Amino acid sequence: MKNHPYYIRLWLRQRLPWFLINLGIGEKGIDCFSVGAAHKWYNIDGNKSGCYYCKQISEEINWNEIRNENNLI
Ligand SMILES: [Zn+2]
Repeated sequence: MKNHPYYIRLWLRQRLPWFLINLGIGEKGIDCFSVGAAHKWYNIDGNKSGCYYCKQISEEINWNEIRNENNLI
């Protein structure tokens, strides 16, 4: 996933202290899909999916491996 346009933001968020992230450094992108990339979903609450890279939230369960592979097509 290193070629993902928002990869550097995710990389930064995993390494920077929270006060820097709160200033907007390493902030999530608006929408992976709008820049031609795939979302990388995680489980928010068992019913919704959030993306590691961007601010999009899906009302569907997208975080399992099969769904993620389908999103790449
Ligand atoms: Zn995304």
